Amino acid sequence: MNVLVINCGSSSLKYQLINADSEKALASGICERIGIDGKFKYKSNTGAKVEKEVTMETHETAIKMVLDALIDPENGVIKSLDEIGAVGHRVVHGGEKFAHSVVINDEVVKAIEECNDLAPLHNPANLIGINACKALMPNVPMVAVFDTAFHQTMPAKAYLYGLPSEYYDKYKIRRYGFHGTSHSFVSKRMAEFVGLDINNSKIIVCHLGNGASVSAVLNGKSIDTSMGLTPLEGLLMGTRSGDLDPAIIEFIANKEGKNISEIMTILNKESGVQGLSGGLSSDFRDLTTASEEGNVLATQALAVFSYRVAKYIGAYVAAMNGVDAIAFTAGIGENDDLVRAAVVSYLGYLGVTLDKENNSKRGDDILISTPDSKVKVAIIPTNEELAIARETVALI
Ligand code: AMP
Repeated sequence: MNVLVINCGSSSLKYQLINADSEKALASGICERIGIDGKFKYKSNTGAKVEKEVTMETHETAIKMVLDALIDPENGVIKSLDEIGAVGHRVVHGGEKFAHSVVINDEVVKAIEECNDLAPLHNPANLIGINACKALMPNVPMVAVFDTAFHQTMPAKAYLYGLPSEYYDKYKIRRYGFHGTSHSFVSKRMAEFVGLDINNSKIIVCHLGNGASVSAVLNGKSIDTSMGLTPLEGLLMGTRSGDLDPAIIEFIANKEGKNISEIMTILNKESGVQGLSGGLSSDFRDLTTASEEGNVLATQALAVFSYRVAKYIGAYVAAMNGVDAIAFTAGIGENDDLVRAAVVSYLGYLGVTLDKENNSKRGDDILISTPDSKVKVAIIPTNEELAIARETVALI
């Protein structure tokens, strides 16, 4: 069966058609600037590539364009839409309502809508994608896969904030965590890769991309993670501040005459390694080059990033009373050997030793700890689309 995986943002839509039997992507691409002007990108596993600037007024127009490309006689990969057996949608926030993926029906749509408050930028966009697919493929079953679901196994001591309890009661303010599909996929793969029984394992997953989070996965279940009510908490990220003293918000407001919403924009879009590097870049390749050329701010930004990852690892070793394996994944985790080496340099107390040669490699799953290392450390490429396709097939 082929599964169309859709990841819908407010003005963009990423897609992949995955053959669930071979687990290979038949085609993938992105529609950008929807509702503004429009940029369409498509690439197939047969080597076809389409890139065009074309008006996309709505997400429905964009999805129609994707479907047309998939069945196009020249560049397509299927003969008719009947060959799409199901659609899997990434949905960012499932609140406390969704601890698992679900088949989408009217009730589910309503429940996702009820989580809009918790992710006002993301959930409404995800719903637009769901409704557009429903309009174009009314008889194809659809599944919602939530970024938050995997972390619903966290105990209250990990998800409660030190706030008046009425805020949890009234508004469900708590830690939810994100990147759950990736943390779930990578922790399972890590266990397989290093020969651990997932039901008797202590794994720390470092998902280090433009957005970044760490999770503690005990016996296959997330028991803590660094992102919170929103993806702003935790690690330093590309442009997000991660953890800081909440009093800083009032301090900046008074000094700079800014309101809360302006400060939230600064914390989400102008902070992180980009902010710390004096606005140089959020991309670790640029920062590494600048650091090698002697840029002190870039060097500092990279140092703060790795130090904070190492601190979270330390916290999760404590939370699980030990660790068997540590996985690095996502753009930085999979590609940046310097960041991995810097993080691992803090882990001597765990008996971790780095295999420098393997750490410089790229590709599939790679063990980067030496054979005598007390904790296994590995690069495990994440594949959220494949994880969504698997969940979708399992449910329908
Ligand atoms: P993601 O959000 O997982 O797509 O990760 C994107 C980030 O990964 C980029 O902003 C870069 O900082 C980082 N990245 C991607 N490729 C490399 C690379 N070859 N070396 C270092 N960092 C990289």
